[in-house]
Amino acid sequence: METLETDYLVVGAGASGMTFTDTLIGESDADVVIVDRRANPGGHWNDAYPFVRLHQPSAVYGVNSRRLGNDEIDEVGPNAGFYERATGAEICGYYRRVLDQELLGSGQVRFFGTSNYIGPEGGRHRFESRLTGETTEVTVRRRVVDATYVESPIPATHTPPFDVDPDVRLVTPNELVDLTDPADGFTVIGAGKTSMDTCGWLLNNGVPSAEIRWIRPRDPWTHQRRHMQTLELVPSLMEWASLRMEAAAKAEDVPDFFRRLEASGVVVPLDPEIEPETWRGAILSQDERDDLRRIRNVIRQGYVQCLEADRIVLDDGTVPTDLQHVHVDCTAHGVKTPPVRPVFGPDRITLQYTIIPVSFSAAITAYVESTRDDDAEKNRLCPPNPLTGDAEDLIQYTLIGQRARAAWREEPDIEDWLQHCRIGFVQGVHDHLDDPRIQDALERIAECQKSAIANLERLRELAETSTS
Ligand SMILES: Cc1cc2nc3c(=O)[nH]c(=O)nc-3n(C[C@H](O)[C@H](O)[C@H](O)COP(=O)(O)OP(=O)(O)OC[C@H]3O[C@@H](n4cnc5c(N)ncnc54)[C@H](O)[C@@H]3O)c2cc1C
Repeated sequence: METLETDYLVVGAGASGMTFTDTLIGESDADVVIVDRRANPGGHWNDAYPFVRLHQPSAVYGVNSRRLGNDEIDEVGPNAGFYERATGAEICGYYRRVLDQELLGSGQVRFFGTSNYIGPEGGRHRFESRLTGETTEVTVRRRVVDATYVESPIPATHTPPFDVDPDVRLVTPNELVDLTDPADGFTVIGAGKTSMDTCGWLLNNGVPSAEIRWIRPRDPWTHQRRHMQTLELVPSLMEWASLRMEAAAKAEDVPDFFRRLEASGVVVPLDPEIEPETWRGAILSQDERDDLRRIRNVIRQGYVQCLEADRIVLDDGTVPTDLQHVHVDCTAHGVKTPPVRPVFGPDRITLQYTIIPVSFSAAITAYVESTRDDDAEKNRLCPPNPLTGDAEDLIQYTLIGQRARAAWREEPDIEDWLQHCRIGFVQGVHDHLDDPRIQDALERIAECQKSAIANLERLRELAETSTS
């Protein structure tokens, strides 16, 4: 059995594990071993459907030390006027270069792909090669870093949560692009970003909207792409942040919070006629939203229980189907929501969201780990913030995120680090301080922040009492 010794054993080479390691070795001389059961870094992006793209700009995704893409604003195509968004293939190529050039190139990191982490035994940690079955034992001098805790379940690697008759045509979005036998119609199952991408792709590839049926058990809130911008377009992000802060400060109750967010355009329902029940941070341009709204055949009868040869059984009814019809499984959650754990625990660091994107959360966790000694203090600065998907949890998410931001502002070194952090959305703000929209937004944020936090605490209590 091979044995290794290291400071940090990072389990998982997705966006979280890669970003954590990148920041950690930039801030310290730590030695790191990374293990992943996939052959390549990049996590779920390696198995993503071919038409996937980031829904946020590439300019704020990836690791801190290396740019993803060229920070260009697209001039043509559906993303015209907004910062470029990498494809899945670009993201995978990017993480491979980060691994080879930044991480392995530093001499501080060793990578073991195609290897399953098994767990600790007798004070040491073990992983096993999926190719040879050989076990490696690792002595960890500082911490094990669990970068798998909020890993992304995706259609290509999950099992659908419903029964399927063997003759029914059920495909993943990955398989959809390879269809050889034409369908007599499509049913897209799920209401998250993957289902939006899939419906958009079908429409863009010539499928008439009348031939698409969309099973959406719960409708989602979405964000506007024009707000989720950075660098030269950062004023619109700051405007968005100030409107959200104002709504948080002034809302009388939970429904009023959403009314205010919707009225100011901070969030937009996918269907203007239907009150959304979920929020997962999906970002759409108005053109994409308008396109998706062309699909009128939306089934809202709960979750699919069973796909049979001639009917789909749902919680609250059945709808007909047939064996030439193609069903697309978009039901994987995209982000796991296990029970929250302290990020800094006695035996390990568990990477979780503090704010979106998860890569930013991993970067600040690594920064805090390398600059602070006390775990209680580290946990104060990096609180876990679960993305449950339930719309009313946006209150809790906003509250935890705002408290964390307020805590960071009190720490001069973190403030300074944030200003130079490539993957914090607010990069560019300090280059545009003379822009009246930034000035106005910063003033409104400063004015409302304290009352927003106090009011969100009250709203969270209200939401808790109404559900208990
Ligand atoms: C289709 C899609 C689009 C998305 N778009 C965006 C976006 O635009 N912006 C955004 O911020 N977020 C987006 N997300 C959210 C996404 O979850 C994060 O961006 C991020 O990629 C998740 O990274 P992760 O490292 O947490 O998880 P993963 O990418 O799932 O990585 C976890 C890794 O751990 C490994 N692993 C697990 N268990 C073990 C074990 N026992 N031994 C060894 N290895 C193990 C897995 O093989 C995997 O490689 C998107 C998610 C999906 C599904």
